[in-house]
Parts: sequence; structure tokens; C-alpha cells
Amino acid sequence: MTATNPASAASSIAERFEQVRRRIHEAAAAAGRDPASVVLTAVSKTQGDAALDAALSAGQRVFGENRVQEAQAHWSARRAALPDLELRLIGPLQTNKAQEAVELFDVIETLDRPRLASALAAAMTKTGRRPRLLVQVNTGAEPQKAGVLPDDADAFIAAVRDDHGLTIEGLMCIPPADEGPAPHFALLAQIARRNGLRVLSMGMSGDYEAAIAAGATHVRVGSALFGERNMAPATSWKTI
Ligand SMILES: *Cc1c(COP(=O)(O)O)cnc(C)c1O
Repeated sequence: MTATNPASAASSIAERFEQVRRRIHEAAAAAGRDPASVVLTAVSKTQGDAALDAALSAGQRVFGENRVQEAQAHWSARRAALPDLELRLIGPLQTNKAQEAVELFDVIETLDRPRLASALAAAMTKTGRRPRLLVQVNTGAEPQKAGVLPDDADAFIAAVRDDHGLTIEGLMCIPPADEGPAPHFALLAQIARRNGLRVLSMGMSGDYEAAIAAGATHVRVGSALFGERNMAPATSWKTI
């Protein structure tokens, strides 16, 4: 069902936030977890001003974006009035955009190669900003998908710390679309545990409850909050 005027679109977005928050709460409680230990990241890629403002009106402050430029368009002006805004980059990052990403984002979830670690370290030194970092793991070892391979994750995390002086706070994954996500969530949790990492960004509109059961601290939800996207997002999962 598509809302036809901005006011009803805003109220349906508010209702969806309500619903998703309730389901997160229930999933956490069912897993014996503190509901406050799960953060909802609203994925605002491709959304227009009305949708962003509706989300802000619904009290949402943590947003995920796939592309640096689109994130700047969405948030650069708005953030001045929003001291508690948290912007998380969840799409692949080209090294030549590392500085812009460091300047805008509070968290970069998609660190997955040494060259990017080195570009981020340089950008942090230059700008004095230090966004928190997650390593993206390609849990399904899909050739078209970004992320370090599960077998390489421990060595990569150590190298980023030792060679580039960067602190990794957690891990992120996007399971294969055509498989049950639970084993991928479990694998990510296991890699995090053995590396002493606290943050797990996993779960999207279709599977965030399963992700919470597996220990997600951050779920990235787009279409369940904003409705179906107009533009196809699939290519943004690749490293371009
Ligand atoms: C688009 C996107 C999401 C949100 O997907 P939905 O299925 O709309 O919830 C989550 N994570 C990443 C990395 C994305 O690109």
C-alpha cells in the first residue's frame, strides 16, 4: 500500500518505527537480552526529505547510509541541529573517499582491506576525527560481495590494529540472499568473540529478529521502516 500524501506517509513511517521497535524489544526479551543492548540503525539510503524528517520526528537518531555523497546530501545540513545524530557508513568505501567518510560518519562499518585501513588512518590523522570502525566479513565468501573472508578475519583485525594503530570495535556482515541467515550470524558472533569485539552489526528488514537471537548489537533496517525503495540498491553491495 502506497501512501499518497506527505502527512499520511509520515504517519505510516511513524507506525513502522513503532512496530519495528516493538519487535526488536520482543526479540531481545525472547533471547534473554536487555532490549537496550540492541540499537536500531535506520537505513535511509534513497529516501527523500519527507521520509528523513518523518524518521527524525519518530525520535530516530541512528542512521545507516551506503554512499558518501548521498549521505552528505541527506545529513550535512541537518546534522548541525542534531547533536545526538549518529551516522553509520554501511556501504563499500573507495579509498579516494576515505577522508570525506571520516569527516562525515561517526562509524564506518565496512573496513575490509589493508589499503582502506591505511587511507582511513591517514584521514584520521589529517582531520583529527576518529570514527569508530567495524570490519565487514563476507561470511558467505561470495565473490561479488565486499568483506574479508572468514578465514582471513583474525589476521586482518590484528594487522589493522598493529600496522595502522586503528581500534576495531566490532564486525558487520550481509549474509547471502539465498541462504538462511542464522549460520552466518553465528559465524560472525564467533569471530567477534574470539577477537574480543563487542559490536555486531547484522540483520536487515527480513531477518533482524534472527540476528538479535544470535547476538546483534546493531540491526540495519531499511524497507521495514520506510517502505520499499524505488531505486535498486543491490549494486551498492559491491566494491566499486
Ligand atoms: C540496504 C541495506 C540494508 C537495509 O536493507 P532492508 O532489507 O531494506 O532492511 C542493510 N544493510 C545494508 C548493508 C544495506 O545496503
